[in-house]
Amino acid sequence: MNQVLHQPLNETELQTMLLEKDIQPTPLRLKLLAYLLSIETHPTREKMYEHINAAGQSCSRATVYNTLNLLAEKGLVLPLRVDDEHLHYDATLMPHAHFRCKGCQGLWNLPVSLDTDHVPQLEGFLPERSEIIIYGLCPQCGKGKG
Ligand SMILES: [Zn+2]
Ligand SMILES: [Zn+2]
Repeated sequence: MNQVLHQPLNETELQTMLLEKDIQPTPLRLKLLAYLLSIETHPTREKMYEHINAAGQSCSRATVYNTLNLLAEKGLVLPLRVDDEHLHYDATLMPHAHFRCKGCQGLWNLPVSLDTDHVPQLEGFLPERSEIIIYGLCPQCGKGKG
């Protein structure tokens, strides 16, 4: 499940990604996008706020959240609301499913096909995105419970 679904990008490539979506590449936007592309743990927006401030940039929570909203609106990252409290972000845009552990709150990528092209019931519909989240316990948290 540690399969790499995207390659890390250099600064110029990140700028191009933003400019292609008509987003001005500010240092904060570049940092958030680079961070999301570099890890596969689907950080929550709280985690990203902490990461940005720990990295020396001091930004308000609202600025970080608004920037993430903007990136999501433009389709560069996907918001994943797994429960009422946690809004995670995913930079892997290739369709995939997730496993969510209720013990450690971990979120793993699952390379499950979410191909809607061959679902006869969707004839005439225009699907834009699909989401599958399997909830349960990861092997670590499920030890001795199975
Ligand atoms: Zn777990
Ligand atoms: Zn994912």
